[in-house]
Amino acid sequence: MDDIDRLEKEILVLRQTLQNKEKELFEIKKKFSPLLPSKIEKEVINQDECAKNNVKISNKLPRWAIERYSRQILLPEIGVRGQEKLMGAKVLVVGAGGLGCPAAVYLAGAGVGEIGIVDYDQVDVTNIHRQILHSESDQNISKALSAVESLRSINSNIKLTPYNIELNPSNALEISANYDVILDCTDNVPTRYMLNDVSVLNKMPLISGSALKMEGQLTIYGYRAETNLNQDKKYEGPCYRCVFPTPPPPEAVGSCSANGVAGPIPGVIGTLQALEAIKLIIGQTRDNLLVGKMLLFDGDDMSFRNVKLRPKNPKCEICSDNPKITALLNYEAVCRMLSKEKDLDLNILPSENRITAVRLAEALKATNGHLLVDVRSEPEFEMCNIDGAVNYPLEKLHGNHFDLLLNEIKGSCCQVTFICRRGNDSQIAAKKVLDVIEDEYKEKIRDLTGGLHAWSKYVDGAFPIY
Ligand SMILES: [Zn+2]
Repeated sequence: MDDIDRLEKEILVLRQTLQNKEKELFEIKKKFSPLLPSKIEKEVINQDECAKNNVKISNKLPRWAIERYSRQILLPEIGVRGQEKLMGAKVLVVGAGGLGCPAAVYLAGAGVGEIGIVDYDQVDVTNIHRQILHSESDQNISKALSAVESLRSINSNIKLTPYNIELNPSNALEISANYDVILDCTDNVPTRYMLNDVSVLNKMPLISGSALKMEGQLTIYGYRAETNLNQDKKYEGPCYRCVFPTPPPPEAVGSCSANGVAGPIPGVIGTLQALEAIKLIIGQTRDNLLVGKMLLFDGDDMSFRNVKLRPKNPKCEICSDNPKITALLNYEAVCRMLSKEKDLDLNILPSENRITAVRLAEALKATNGHLLVDVRSEPEFEMCNIDGAVNYPLEKLHGNHFDLLLNEIKGSCCQVTFICRRGNDSQIAAKKVLDVIEDEYKEKIRDLTGGLHAWSKYVDGAFPIY
């Protein structure tokens, strides 16, 4: 164990040294290489002026850029002009997870001049099956730093900025103002509303992706044609609030950690987010972009569908001519849910109906016949469970299934303990029973505080945490 600790510390120091050296190298390269990000912007603006005046544009890409990006410069859609735009573009990727990783890989590969990566979280082993910028050796380090480190090894000619912080209403406008496009690669409703409002208030497009179980979605909100010379400059696409004016009820929202996701699903959607960002940057028109329409990907039957979204709502609370919202809000309060699922800690049962993991372990040793009701889903129960537990998934606790459970509880001679992963669903299930069961049975009903995570932490270290 000492050896592991020592090596982990040494690796941390080496990583930091490597990062500093890479930054130093980037700064030196910037001084000597023509057309690295700091110089690109002026060139692009000048060329826009030239285009307006029908002046012939001279192609000025340096040799290294031509060689490096030749495979995409060959495309008539991109060409030298598109490559210059990409090298002058600044993209903010919010979330360095399943969507953000593949999106950032392709943006870095394409030579997008500046990429900012925001994530407050650390890498853990459950991330690695889909979050392709992180590896086993990155566990417990910041996702933003881990992602930037990997991206730097893909392209050392671009500016990469890690933001190891939680994007919130006090910093989101300021950080995103440094960029041209936002990629929403997050997984929660409050942040979706916040990024939408940032996109409208800062007048920048938002490329929004989501992935859950075997399905993914993708669209562009807040598109403004005024930045595109080739079309009706007044056109504005819908924003997220135009399409979803009110947040969904908290119980209707799923998450990858609770519902699972197949790794390639966010891989597909994140990759397509990068493609839409590239097309947007090189100036493709809205007809070719996912503006006012949403791409739905179903990995079960491998179908891609485009559905039309509601158009811009003339009464939208934020993007209409007379907006009610003119500054960022407290999104967790508005949406009645937390942006960090890890913090969710329900407390809905009275203390006499709760039991700690240690006490439960003692009770199980002392008496037989204890009824353990595990309310997680069937695949979760199959993955790991406490010996002797029975499985009554919370989502099936109604009708006959619920009656069956009530009968089992009434027939049990000893204590009945509800169990789930973190101790929230188990309280909901126990409350459901307590609300209907006769008083004489109520005192034997318990909920395992902190769920199986607490069980693993305080009783059985070999029990998997997932
Ligand atoms: Zn709107």
